[in-house]
Amino acid sequence: MRRGLLDIESLTRAEIDGILTRSKDFQPAPGQTFKRFETLRGRTVVNLFFESSTRTRTSFEIAAKRLGADVLAITAAGSSVSKGESLVDTLNTLGAMRPDAIVMRHAASGAPHFLSRYLPIPIVNAGDGTHEHPTQALLDARTILDRRGTLEGLRVAIIGDIAHSRVARSNIFLLSKFGVQVVLCGPASLLPREIGQIAPGVTLTTNMETAIRDVDVIMMLRVQLERQHEAAFPASEYFQFYGLRPEHVELAKPDVVVMHPGPINRGREISSEVADSQRSAILNQVENGIAVRMAVLEKVLAA
Ligand code: ASP
Repeated sequence: MRRGLLDIESLTRAEIDGILTRSKDFQPAPGQTFKRFETLRGRTVVNLFFESSTRTRTSFEIAAKRLGADVLAITAAGSSVSKGESLVDTLNTLGAMRPDAIVMRHAASGAPHFLSRYLPIPIVNAGDGTHEHPTQALLDARTILDRRGTLEGLRVAIIGDIAHSRVARSNIFLLSKFGVQVVLCGPASLLPREIGQIAPGVTLTTNMETAIRDVDVIMMLRVQLERQHEAAFPASEYFQFYGLRPEHVELAKPDVVVMHPGPINRGREISSEVADSQRSAILNQVENGIAVRMAVLEKVLAA
């Protein structure tokens, strides 16, 4: 992983397995906090976020600090990017500071790949446009494994704004590498046919009940209004057809796992009853984000 972690698509099943297995060592025992390690003592990780983020940015920061690294956070709003500096100039400046790794989020798909061709250090993609969000898929897989013990043979429904979701794409790549049957569901305008062809075993439906029946996992997605350039979205209608409510959950397997990458919009894509229910793994996802990112940073920085 000399180039870091740019996407799930190019990872082998063995590489993914390695990260997921290692992340178990970083999960805190019940009631405990994350242990501190010295593995990355003396190394500097730059968190470069050109798009807003709560979970991912803080999670990477905690992960790097728990491994003993120094962390420098740069967000677009408080940096020279807001003064009109070009991406290349920002990157050259950062490169001159000689960080050991850069964690990057950007609105343009492919931005971290561009950066990794430019700088000779590992780059970790923290979400690039509508392309991929690899650590989200890894933490989702960790969460499913914790509850189910295996991925092989499961049926997973991913529901919502599939068209604009980097979370959906990374999950499709990861889950299909592990023999999961993936069902994608959303309104036709947000469910491009081609997405079903990016990996084997993926089916599409616009009917929420068909998607959910007998599934092991339901992954809800936020409607990505910031990436939609068409007319305003009718929120109340969306919730009526694609909002996850208790009656839907009853159609799935009795021990179904309900997931959402966050931020959740209660009453838009998920009801509070479901988000706060026993079946919801939303906060486990957040917690697993730190363990998985510790495993990723350790792997890309291991030298
Ligand atoms: N936090 C996820 C992402 O950055 C999902 C979302 O924003 O809806 O893609």
